[in-house]
Amino acid sequence: MSKTEKIMTIDEKLSLTKLTTDKNYEHITVNQEICRKCKTFDCVYACPANCYKFSEGEEVDSPIIFDYAPCLECGSCRIVCPHGSVDWHYPKGGFGVEYKNS
Ligand code: SF4
Repeated sequence: MSKTEKIMTIDEKLSLTKLTTDKNYEHITVNQEICRKCKTFDCVYACPANCYKFSEGEEVDSPIIFDYAPCLECGSCRIVCPHGSVDWHYPKGGFGVEYKNS
């Protein structure tokens, strides 16, 4: 990178993606029974798209809520979850993320 090149923020990089959500197919599902027993919340800290959040904002012990719609298909959540709670698949053809200008 040259000295004159601007370093982009995460939000600026995310704005370069295009997401097409399949409202009829959740390509990632989580097992809430397993998640309720979790104490490390690896998914919340690993997901770059904030798909995993604490239901009470920053309250760390509140249950996890999950939304597959902003998913960037990086695969981090299925790797970091130590409990096997994440059932992960790619979206069906024509749906999901498109890295259009990055
Ligand atoms: Fe988040 Fe990546 Fe998992 Fe999608 S695949 S939910 S972007 S961690």
